Amino acid sequence: MTCPSCNSDDYEILKTKGKKNKELLVKCNDCEHTYWTPAPEEVHAVKVRVIISEFEKSWKTSVELFSDEYLEVGTLLYIDDKDVEVTSIENSEEKRVFECPVIDIKTIWAKSLDTQARIGLTIDNHGIVLSHKIEVERDFIFAIGDVGEVYGKKFRIYAFKTLERNMRKGYAYAKVIKRIYGRLLPNNDKSKVKYDLSEYVVKTTIKDKEKNKDNYFN
Ligand SMILES: [Zn+2]
Repeated sequence: MTCPSCNSDDYEILKTKGKKNKELLVKCNDCEHTYWTPAPEEVHAVKVRVIISEFEKSWKTSVELFSDEYLEVGTLLYIDDKDVEVTSIENSEEKRVFECPVIDIKTIWAKSLDTQARIGLTIDNHGIVLSHKIEVERDFIFAIGDVGEVYGKKFRIYAFKTLERNMRKGYAYAKVIKRIYGRLLPNNDKSKVKYDLSEYVVKTTIKDKEKNKDNYFN
């Protein structure tokens, strides 16, 4: 605090009032001017509730954040020995917000980044290409010939592109796959679905090769 009269920062606190937003009555030691001023905010650690999801499980934990900070969706935090990304914030009025002062946060939702591999999934249907970005557990295994489903559409995997090669047979861990290629199966196909990837889709693009037009949703 500096004196508004002489700019000295040598002062004495005579009185305080207020609980949450404290005001101080201050006397300057140099010119003896006395004035009321808002108390400087005391920064302290606030314990905030966090729900972390990791693939199919989730758990409650907490994190300590500075009281004078803001938190926003997309922020990376390190909690429970994991890198996590904030996906949603609920404030003290129980509303979902994009950003929030730390002191007003009720719950943080975050997803663990430790086990996630981001993969392209391209499904071809006679010229219409459905292109998805999916995030799955790094150790998830995909095999050529697997029948999967996404948003109610069944497809069979016929190729992968991994970090270093193209594969037409065999299997691979998600962590080394860059892109999966599948063909859409007809509605009446009876193949058993091995996995439904709908909830792991983070982005979808539809491309019509013939019209050369892109449509985006999501
Ligand atoms: Zn002064």
